[in-house]
Amino acid sequence: MRSTRSSAKKKTAPITESSNDLENSNQPVDHRKKEDLSRFKLQPKQKINSKRPHVTAEYDESTSPKKPANKLAGKTLIENKPEHWEEVLKNLREMRKDFDAPVDTMGCDQCPDEAASPQDKRFQTLLSLMLSSQTKDQVTHAAMLRLREHGCSLLNILNTTDEKLGELIYPVGFWKTKVKNIKRSSEMIRDVFNSDIPNTVDGLCKLPGVGPKMAHLCMKTAWGEITGIGVDTHVHRICNRLGWVKSKTPEETRKILEGWLPYDLWSEVNHLLVGFGQQTCLPVKPKCDTCLNNHLCPFSGKQK
Ligand code: SF4
Repeated sequence: MRSTRSSAKKKTAPITESSNDLENSNQPVDHRKKEDLSRFKLQPKQKINSKRPHVTAEYDESTSPKKPANKLAGKTLIENKPEHWEEVLKNLREMRKDFDAPVDTMGCDQCPDEAASPQDKRFQTLLSLMLSSQTKDQVTHAAMLRLREHGCSLLNILNTTDEKLGELIYPVGFWKTKVKNIKRSSEMIRDVFNSDIPNTVDGLCKLPGVGPKMAHLCMKTAWGEITGIGVDTHVHRICNRLGWVKSKTPEETRKILEGWLPYDLWSEVNHLLVGFGQQTCLPVKPKCDTCLNNHLCPFSGKQK
């Protein structure tokens, strides 16, 4: 009998959803009783696969004036660096060593008039970037030369009719929309930004027709500040082909790439990849046979 009573005493009430149930009841609570905590025991660690796993670490956003945080759905992502990325980069530099792609001689950084004032040069840089979307470098460069000849200062563009501006920039892609965006952006620069282009990514993105890609490239070229990787259609395509990212949009590519690529390469990688995309890793029928990365690229030979 003694042992039965003893074991009955040891029995504990099952833990209910809320400990408040016990506290609120009229039954006296015996705080000396110990609950069975075995179910809270730590489970043994699972064996880690010896193959290098793909890890995505998430932590709260933090900011730094030199290296901006990479936000994706409110989180900062650090992706594992892809295998062989340094060798791939070395090969890219080798393939691009002659700097003879259209972007090298007619890219947006080549469009402003060197003799113009710093303020006008920054404005011209912004305009060349706005013209360049969905447009070949050759066409953008030619349009900028016409604008420069016309007089490419903020005041002069504001005083130019839409019709004339359209004539000057035609045949850049979506030229009618770009005329409107250039005129509205110019008004904002005059009225809100004291007649100079904004000097932050946020400020630039407030201008009609300017998105993050353009803003980061503009910060680099106009203000000499690296705030992010400029990811255009070439960079987006090649990064996915090389397995450097797995993404659906250029903006997603930028955020993932910034998660693992060292900051001091952010400026170089845009230029390298854009020229590489113009000459070798073409959108259709990439020249994999002559590519130094064909033994490292998962996409090699998949599209002939
Ligand atoms: S192997 Fe082909 S797909 Fe891969 S990077 Fe080179 S050109 Fe592009």
